[in-house]
Amino acid sequence: MKNKSLWLDGYVNANYTRLQEDITCDVLIIGGGITGLSILYNLKDTNLNIVLVESDLIGHATTGHTTGKINYLQEHVYSDIQNKYGFNTAKLYYDSQIEAIEHLINIIKKEHIACDLEQVTSFVYTNKDEEIEKLKYESTLLKRFGAPVKEDEKNHPFINSKYALSVSNTYVFHPLKYLNALKQICLKKGKPIYEKTPIIDIQKNNNEYLCFTQENQIRTKKIILACHYPYFLFPYFLPLRTSIEKSYIAVSPALNKKETFINCSKPIVSLRYYQNNLIYLTNTSQSCDNLNEEENYQKLVKQMQNLNLDVTYLWKNDDLLTVDKIPYIGYIKKNDKSILMATGYNTWGISNSSLAGLVISDLIQGKEINMKI
Ligand SMILES: Cc1cc2nc3c(=O)[nH]c(=O)nc-3n(C[C@H](O)[C@H](O)[C@H](O)COP(=O)(O)OP(=O)(O)OC[C@H]3O[C@@H](n4cnc5c(N)ncnc54)[C@H](O)[C@@H]3O)c2cc1C
Repeated sequence: MKNKSLWLDGYVNANYTRLQEDITCDVLIIGGGITGLSILYNLKDTNLNIVLVESDLIGHATTGHTTGKINYLQEHVYSDIQNKYGFNTAKLYYDSQIEAIEHLINIIKKEHIACDLEQVTSFVYTNKDEEIEKLKYESTLLKRFGAPVKEDEKNHPFINSKYALSVSNTYVFHPLKYLNALKQICLKKGKPIYEKTPIIDIQKNNNEYLCFTQENQIRTKKIILACHYPYFLFPYFLPLRTSIEKSYIAVSPALNKKETFINCSKPIVSLRYYQNNLIYLTNTSQSCDNLNEEENYQKLVKQMQNLNLDVTYLWKNDDLLTVDKIPYIGYIKKNDKSILMATGYNTWGISNSSLAGLVISDLIQGKEINMKI
């Protein structure tokens, strides 16, 4: 059994460049996960002098530990958003996910990216009687949006479902293969990417920023924080209204069923297949819950054994949850167009980073967009 992400196993990145001189640019993207790369890709054909810096290697943080579902069926997110902000906002979020997924799939097709993309049927299910009504309501809402949603009461391997919703226009992929391809495309377009280059401090100096690495500085007019959570700005950065969700993931050999599953209440169980492997996520907990990682790993291994599954990979991952299920994408301050961020994807960061790529590249180019979600 390997204690590492399946996506990172065997991933060789000998071909990277570290920043070794002081530079000046128009826009600096901090963070080389799927958010940073999606933004850089969308700006690759502009004349902007744009640079991306990554403290480690491309994709080695949250994105390299994800389950890699490209999915708009996100538990009962649409009912939750409707309850807080009304039907139109829930519909806007749905439209944003559909557009972002289409954009991502178009990039993969247009650039011929070999990232093991597969179309799958995705299910959100419950094994609790008291949750069935809530899922039925989510189904009604999705139908009003025009989604091809079906209801399902069958049994499925490895889960214990009483009632489920499914859609078949969703996908899974290999996130590292996708990111690596975006990296190569952006480099070929002359957009520099510096890895092993952490930003340790940012200072504002009149109309520009000075961003410091250990040895060098980057002078820039605009900054995009694509670094998941800007811990390195603490205590200067106001804490976002977020919580952190920790999950544990195991992989086991299993016949590929071209399906994905997620239940709709804690503890989350989420499944997908990659080739003939089952990727099984559970023990999801808020950071205030059981922090004993060893115990949580053991619990997951036991769960897998109970399902007669051998574990070949085991890893953990964290994501940021926002209080209202809406991600943070855009300007940090209303009247300051020089600093932007994208994070808080509520564990649906593949579609939402693609959305961030669209929104932030439009904002950087001065295009008008409807920011009122
Ligand atoms: C267990 C789990 C499963 C998930 N599964 C799915 C899924 O199936 N589908 C889905 O849609 N979403 C999923 N998500 C969510 C999704 O994976 C994340 O939201 C997404 O990967 C976040 O991408 P990112 O680029 O914003 O962050 P990251 O991938 O973390 O990238 C940020 C980068 O910034 C770099 N960085 C940080 N600080 C600095 C600095 N000071 N200087 C330079 N660089 C810096 C980091 O090294 C990192 O590489 C999952 C999340 C979890 C936790």
